[in-house]
Amino acid sequence: MKIKSNHDLCKRCGEPVFLAEKIFAAGFSWHKLTCFRCKLCKNALDSLHLTVHDDEIFCSKCHVSLFNPCYYNINITK
Ligand SMILES: [Zn+2]
Ligand SMILES: [Zn+2]
Repeated sequence: MKIKSNHDLCKRCGEPVFLAEKIFAAGFSWHKLTCFRCKLCKNALDSLHLTVHDDEIFCSKCHVSLFNPCYYNINITK
């Protein structure tokens, strides 16, 4: 059992997140500027365009290439 603290901890870096820098997405808190980014390509995300997988956040491009390579290959066929 974890004791609930007053501060949310950032899912990515584990540091406390204060309200002014916090974004809540995928059931976790994140540092809006530094940590709310695609795990793979580190591009900034917004809450409308992120993809969640195993409690991590990715941009849709990385998510498709990581977890759905067949779909990805079909779509980039020239
Ligand atoms: Zn963080
Ligand atoms: Zn990405």
